[in-house]
Amino acid sequence: MKPRIGITCARGDAAPDRYTLHSGYVEAIAAHGGLAVLLPCLPEADPAEYLDAVDGLLLSGGGDLDPAHFGEEPRVWNGRIDPVADVFELELARRFLAAGRPVLGICRGMQVLNVAAGGDLYQDLREDAGTTLQHDQQAPPWYGTHAVDVAEGSGLRAILQEGRVRVNSFHHQAVRRVAPGFLPAARAADGVIEAIERPGGAFTIGVQWHPERMHPACRASRRLFAAFVRACSGRDAASA
Ligand code: MN
Repeated sequence: MKPRIGITCARGDAAPDRYTLHSGYVEAIAAHGGLAVLLPCLPEADPAEYLDAVDGLLLSGGGDLDPAHFGEEPRVWNGRIDPVADVFELELARRFLAAGRPVLGICRGMQVLNVAAGGDLYQDLREDAGTTLQHDQQAPPWYGTHAVDVAEGSGLRAILQEGRVRVNSFHHQAVRRVAPGFLPAARAADGVIEAIERPGGAFTIGVQWHPERMHPACRASRRLFAAFVRACSGRDAASA
């Protein structure tokens, strides 16, 4: 049986009554042997029921988290928030982490993972971290515009089999304080944390880039999805 992988959905700016998810997430999971299951957020949704419905969790990209979830007031550059999605995804992440089930966080999903586990975020990289590296690229999404150095000895390094990869970049926020139990797994040249992982258990990795937009032309992205789907199949639970 194919591993069932739950993928969170956003709700659109222009159409708040529609769930939205870029097809790249579904295609990447399907291409690596997983069965994609979309997880809609509802105010009354019980994340515990999704724990039973799927084998692993893919936290997808989207808007900004309400900084109240890491104890801050919103500053001027904080973007659009969806309070229902925030609560749903944070609780979903906590449930999967507590159960020791595979989790992959992508972009906002990595940020959700970090905050769910007790870390926090830069609300805006230019304002709060003073970086001049371009993290909101103008190039096409399949194209990696900046490099990341993958931490030696990390699970991510073992999966990607490369110490430096070029990644796309569509974010103005980033992980600031890494959650307890997690480690930074990759950094950009300006020091911005581009990946995190929780060692010692099931596959638990967050990446700040969008491998679902790169995978057809990027071996490292394919290796990441392959390792995640394999972990969700239960055959290789310690691969991360
Ligand atoms: Mn970046």
